[in-house]
Amino acid sequence: MTSPKSQPLTAPVEDYLKVIFELEGGAGAASTNEIAAELGIAPASVSGMVRRLAEQGLIAHQPYRGVRLTSAGRRAALRTIRRHRVIEAYLTTALRYPWDRVHEEAERLEHAASDELIDRMAEAIGEPATDPHGAPIPARDGTLSERELSVLDDVEVGARVSIQRVGDRDAGQLRYLAEIGIIPGRRVEVLAREPFGGPISLRVGKAVRSIGPALAKQILVAAV
Ligand SMILES: [Zn+2]
Repeated sequence: MTSPKSQPLTAPVEDYLKVIFELEGGAGAASTNEIAAELGIAPASVSGMVRRLAEQGLIAHQPYRGVRLTSAGRRAALRTIRRHRVIEAYLTTALRYPWDRVHEEAERLEHAASDELIDRMAEAIGEPATDPHGAPIPARDGTLSERELSVLDDVEVGARVSIQRVGDRDAGQLRYLAEIGIIPGRRVEVLAREPFGGPISLRVGKAVRSIGPALAKQILVAAV
């Protein structure tokens, strides 16, 4: 058994742990098929890696459900997530990158940057609590405080909410959200929702905007 602390993890291992962490958040466990879909690879290639991660003590099998991170796996996942989110925050704050251009850079750099570099980057921009898309940044000690948030698609008509977090992967979607003013910190009011999966109307500042339910599912909000 290899101790995850004694050896730096490879980039693919870090990507697996990150994906399992995210999948676990919803369902409590991550299945081989879900991991394959998230990573865009065949389920057959996931099985081998899953076996290796279990041998290294980073994940444990949940009978009939998939895998879960062990505490060592969770620590490693949170370290990578911290690197990713600090890099995104640094690029937007210190280097004035637009928020739709930082995810791809962070996907590459998260595997290369040392923890010291990441800590210094975080310090240089005032230790932000969230990345530019509103995702919480795990602390240096590996803890992550996640607020209970609602999905915009589930908010009832008439409610006022503040945008907290948006999906970070689709650059085109991020540009669109910025264009219509849906960014973390902005307050919006849900004006109407068409039935049968139709669009949701929102008051955003002085404008009225319509977005589809698929997009509204990727926007997390808090009551105001
Ligand atoms: Zn990202």
